[in-house]
Amino acid sequence: MAKIMAVNAGSSSLKFKLYEMPSEEVITSGIAERIGHDDAIFTIKYQNEKDTKILPIKNHSVAVDLLLKALIEKEIVKDIHEIKALGHRIVQGGKYFSQSVIVNEDVVNKVRSLIPLAPLHNEAHLIGYQAFKDALPESLNVFTFDTAFHQTMAEEDYLFPIPYELSIKYDCRRYGAHGTSHKYLAHEGQKYLKKGSLNRIISCHIGSGASLSAIKNEKCLATSMGLTPLGGVMMGTRTGDLDPSVMDYLCRMENKSVSEMYQIFNKQSGFLGVSGVSNDSRDIIDAVNQGNPRAIIADKLFIRRILDYIGQYYVRLGGVDLIIFSAGIGENASYYRQKICEALKDSLSVIIDNNKNEEMIRGKEGLISTNESKVQVAVIPTDEEIMIARDTYAYFANKNIE
Ligand code: AMP
Repeated sequence: MAKIMAVNAGSSSLKFKLYEMPSEEVITSGIAERIGHDDAIFTIKYQNEKDTKILPIKNHSVAVDLLLKALIEKEIVKDIHEIKALGHRIVQGGKYFSQSVIVNEDVVNKVRSLIPLAPLHNEAHLIGYQAFKDALPESLNVFTFDTAFHQTMAEEDYLFPIPYELSIKYDCRRYGAHGTSHKYLAHEGQKYLKKGSLNRIISCHIGSGASLSAIKNEKCLATSMGLTPLGGVMMGTRTGDLDPSVMDYLCRMENKSVSEMYQIFNKQSGFLGVSGVSNDSRDIIDAVNQGNPRAIIADKLFIRRILDYIGQYYVRLGGVDLIIFSAGIGENASYYRQKICEALKDSLSVIIDNNKNEEMIRGKEGLISTNESKVQVAVIPTDEEIMIARDTYAYFANKNIE
């Protein structure tokens, strides 16, 4: 038995979940938010209790100290050295990492070299890692990469049709994202495959960020996000795929720089930009019900982009046995699941049970397709932290990781 901490450090936040492994019991979890502010928020959940404090948290080191002190004060651990290993989520692993790795100097340097590909994330992950390393120098550290699962893609699935020299010189290619989630979903999804199926899965991780993956025998063949998480389907505030000339045309027409327009594509597009209402799917659904014309078109565009990828991946996989819905919208918005599945009825003979679909919300898992449906459809709440904890524990226990 060993206590393993899964860590997700953002630029101004630090999320944590402490597990007893290998039983996978969650001992405590929480988050420090607004790091760098005088009114930062520290929340820790333990034994059905939630403790929230508002206080200054100058930097990630202060957040880590606060967390470790809270673990002792609340008698969650007797000694912080009970935390044998830490698993850190890393958004961008580039071409270097196709699985989780034990952290050493070379790994840190590679993650640092990838900062231009994920400026907001990789730098923050390294700051979080360093803060824990300073506080717990004897613990093992493991990095788990969002991109690792997608490293099995073939060249024709990850290359962009730009001059080849540029692809190679700058490693400019599709890396995808949400890989830890897609891997988890494909693994959990195995129990919903019919006997004798060809194990072809389309996983739909649809939250404020969204991506779809085509997965065969638990290996990723294709994924919708690209060089960065801006590509693929339409999202809360992100465009998803665009004709590249949109950038040049709008910059000229609006007299804006590429980086200003890039911000607009990242932060002011998607549900928010098209509807003018909100980036939150719940507000979009409400506005659709009130007849708001821009919300109606945002809603249709969102569904269309997802259907386009499902169609693409149906062909890529040579058929599909299981479609999985996950993340904020996929796990909770029965409205979108119903609309997407309804649109797949004629082409893929997908039939869902409307009652099951309505019931499958807030963390519930199960099939929503009927026995007659040619394709199984499941809702599976994703769990990236457990994947991080499993890989970290595997290294700690000296086992091979999957
Ligand atoms: P995530 O990024 O995975 O946390 O997902 C956030 C998205 O999930 C937001 O667009 C939320 O509106 C959406 N979401 C969460 N709960 C619901 C719900 N009950 N109905 C519709 N959308 C939801």
